[in-house]
Amino acid sequence: MSVLGLERLEVRHGQLQAVRGISLAVAEGETLALVGANGAGKTTLLRAIAGAHRPAAGRILLDGADVTALPAYRRVAQGIALVPEGRRLFAGMTVEENLLVARANGRPGPWTIERVLATFPMLRARFKAKAGSLSGGEQQATAIGRALVTNPRVLLLDEVSLGLAPIAVERVYECLRALIGAGATIVLVEQDLGRALRVATRVACMLEGRVVLEGAAAAMTREQVSAAYFGLARGEEPQPA
Ligand code: ATP
Repeated sequence: MSVLGLERLEVRHGQLQAVRGISLAVAEGETLALVGANGAGKTTLLRAIAGAHRPAAGRILLDGADVTALPAYRRVAQGIALVPEGRRLFAGMTVEENLLVARANGRPGPWTIERVLATFPMLRARFKAKAGSLSGGEQQATAIGRALVTNPRVLLLDEVSLGLAPIAVERVYECLRALIGAGATIVLVEQDLGRALRVATRVACMLEGRVVLEGAAAAMTREQVSAAYFGLARGEEPQPA
């Protein structure tokens, strides 16, 4: 059975239909990369899965159980954790406090605060520092750690490399590869197609609220994904803007 299932999910922002009838299944240990142009609906989809945005129609299943009507904090307790775009840490609280608050709302399991520090060693020296004083990379590590201490069944990551220096992106991705190697189930939004294809087991390309291409990352070429990304039929070349 899939860990995460989406059935004909529709999500609106007022009159605007941002997600249009998406059905997807994510199996245990799989890393699904969601790619697509700005405004394709990726963030809206992740937020709907996490319970931050109520879908207009369709169902969200976690281990086969319908969680569509559950509020976000109860989804965390059931095993859905989101690392949101822009990280959204409690800036006035320390790294430790951010992790403690999350842990209190999560599930018991192998991810402890000590394990987060072992995974992101750069956080040890910053443990008692206010989150707002951290570098972008340190904040991103804290945001991922905050999700991990809830011991999620499925980890949702929204553009974790956004706004980070290249070296910090490399560090964050090194840690993600370790998580993936350890069997985590992940859905990630990534703007960098090459990176998405390298890290994911499966890729779903969104265009205007729909999944227009989906399949095993190993079987997909960058050209195929970019054509879907721009809404081109097979064989057409993207035109310069
Ligand atoms: P990006 O890469 O820019 O984050 P995305 O693929 O994540 O894009 P979304 O942010 O989910 O796309 O946006 C999907 C659509 O919903 C866009 O047309 C966007 O303008 C619209 N939208 C997103 N958030 C809101 C909001 N809070 N209110 C109204 N419309 C919104």
